[in-house]
Amino acid sequence: MYNIPQGVGIGISLLKHELEKIRKHKLVIALDGHSSSGKSTLAHNLAQLLSLNHIDTGAMYRAVTLYLLNNDIDITDKDKVSSVLDEIDISFQREQDKCITILNGKKVEEQIRTMRVSDHVSDVSAISAVRSHLVHLQRKMAASDSVIMDGRDIGSVVLPDANVKIFVSASLEIRTERRYQELLDKGVNITKEEVAKNLAKRDHIDSNREDSPLIQAEDAIFLDTGSLDQGRMLAEAVKIIHSQTA
Ligand code: C5P
Repeated sequence: MYNIPQGVGIGISLLKHELEKIRKHKLVIALDGHSSSGKSTLAHNLAQLLSLNHIDTGAMYRAVTLYLLNNDIDITDKDKVSSVLDEIDISFQREQDKCITILNGKKVEEQIRTMRVSDHVSDVSAISAVRSHLVHLQRKMAASDSVIMDGRDIGSVVLPDANVKIFVSASLEIRTERRYQELLDKGVNITKEEVAKNLAKRDHIDSNREDSPLIQAEDAIFLDTGSLDQGRMLAEAVKIIHSQTA
């Protein structure tokens, strides 16, 4: 049984009523937004609550980046990068209520979250061949079951026909604080300035690249997560999903 995070601002019976209405059909939710805006946690919570598959596309770009770094492939050499994409197999494995990223048969959930990967992932993600390779894979993953997919271009490019599109963001200061606390909890030795610099750099590259830049799809609903805890975020997202599927 899924434990609804504390602070959910709507009553459980109302929530159940809403969920029954929402789950009548195959549901495809596209969730986009800036780094550390609470996207992945929200996607995870919605997936648990609504029994959806969760596909974290950021993890896929991170896994490609890890492969390139581990194999000493020059990420500025686009032809070389394109030529190795077929060697990279990415999948997800469910472990209890967690979704673990698998790269060529190995669990890499920890490695893909390191600063080494974070420092290079946006440059790798700007390579068109990488994007088309992963977009193809993402569409295949979303084809059969109800799904929530989170990323940067899901509502605009990957799943333009999604039933629900949500775009989340918060100020750079708030996102920095969240990411910094997350890294401290993991025992990573880093300063707040370094975290802020990495987020600002990724925002810039993600929003300005030529291929599929980070944008809010025209039909996406904006959710400012700045002042919301996990529970409130979930409750607001349920309201949006209900309004878009009613
Ligand atoms: O979501 P997360 O912060 O883990 O994503 C890591 C990076 O992957 C982003 O900064 C972005 O460069 C890239 N990305 C992307 N398109 C997506 C998902 C992530 O370009 N759909």
